[in-house]
Amino acid sequence: MAWCATVLTLYPEMFPGPLGHSLAGRALAAGAWSLRAAQIRDHATDRHRSVDDTPAGGGAGMVMRADVLAAAVDNALRREPELALLAMTPRGEPLRQEFVRELAGGPGVVVLCGRFEGMDERLFEARPIRPVSVGDYVLSGGEVAALVLLDACVRLLPGVMGAAHSGVDESFETGLLEYPQYTRPYDWEGRLIPEALRSGDHARIAAWRQARAVEDTRLRRPDLMERRGGVPGHRPLARGDDRDD
Ligand code: SAM
Repeated sequence: MAWCATVLTLYPEMFPGPLGHSLAGRALAAGAWSLRAAQIRDHATDRHRSVDDTPAGGGAGMVMRADVLAAAVDNALRREPELALLAMTPRGEPLRQEFVRELAGGPGVVVLCGRFEGMDERLFEARPIRPVSVGDYVLSGGEVAALVLLDACVRLLPGVMGAAHSGVDESFETGLLEYPQYTRPYDWEGRLIPEALRSGDHARIAAWRQARAVEDTRLRRPDLMERRGGVPGHRPLARGDDRDD
């Protein structure tokens, strides 16, 4: 069965949005994955179809009601009980490639999108929902965060990127950033493609790429390097093998 995504949202019309284009869009049209955007408001019970209320304890904005969200979640899980249940929230665990791979390797996801000041916390106590954040910044709603998560998963589905590209060589897959990429022209504004990459020597190219991946990760993302516990036996790039030769 195709990988399955259900998005619970107040704005179903935002889907598939960018996921209807390019790689993900072609895979959607080809049936490699399916997408259903469900309206949370359909689970409201009062005559105003309200999904939110004022924050307990006071303060600005509105909070999404636990009873309405739970009804939307329960309905989704009744239809597709095997799917991973996620909620997009800045309070969640940061989304990482290893988790993306785990999700892409499963049957699919139900993704709950927040709005306003967020969701009543009791929802997370009462349902087995994994809270997920796409970064340390605040978006106006969970829909863009859900699009990020779905895009990251869908490109890993079998056949979506094409046989030649498995994605295993990319940033974060080994805990490092990817090495920098270059293409023609060889000389652009006096900047040359590094000599190692033009050498045709596969071992030398692989060594250069590994060394640059390590160096760039160390400089740009010391947090990744620390999590990885450094790089045993790493040899920095030798003079003449560096980026500006
Ligand atoms: N008051 C909340 C806080 O400070 O943590 C922010 C609420 S935000 C304006 C509304 C919704 O956007 C959230 O419920 C969540 O679904 C989504 N959202 C915002 N930033 C996000 C992030 N970094 N990762 C995942 N979802 C996010």
